[in-house]
Amino acid sequence: MTSIAKPVLHCDGLVVHCMDYRLQKILHPWVMNRFGADNFDIVSLAGGVHDYEMVLKYVELGVKIHSINEVVLINHEDCRAYGRDGTYKRHVSDLLEAEHKIEALFPSLSVETFYLHLNGKFESILPA
Ligand SMILES: [Zn+2]
Repeated sequence: MTSIAKPVLHCDGLVVHCMDYRLQKILHPWVMNRFGADNFDIVSLAGGVHDYEMVLKYVELGVKIHSINEVVLINHEDCRAYGRDGTYKRHVSDLLEAEHKIEALFPSLSVETFYLHLNGKFESILPA
């Protein structure tokens, strides 16, 4: 009995963003433009990186099954999943913390973080 190996799958990026319906028309063209169609995994979670452990599960999976190279983490303005805690400062802090943890676990991954304004502006969050 011979087993036929399945082809190795690859895409460049994994994108994590909030489930919020207000973002979809902004996010989808941006992600398609950045990675190209057919070249990214996309994860929609309430609060973006709010639940880091959940984000990590998807990053691990993306590395394992699609050998991703890049992770893009996007939190956004007026995120109701954060409620009152969702200050700009908190979003920046959570994004950078998630980035650092992922980079420590997966040194070969490039991780970028953005704060998405509701007017459509993607603000790149850089380590202080
Ligand atoms: Zn949100």
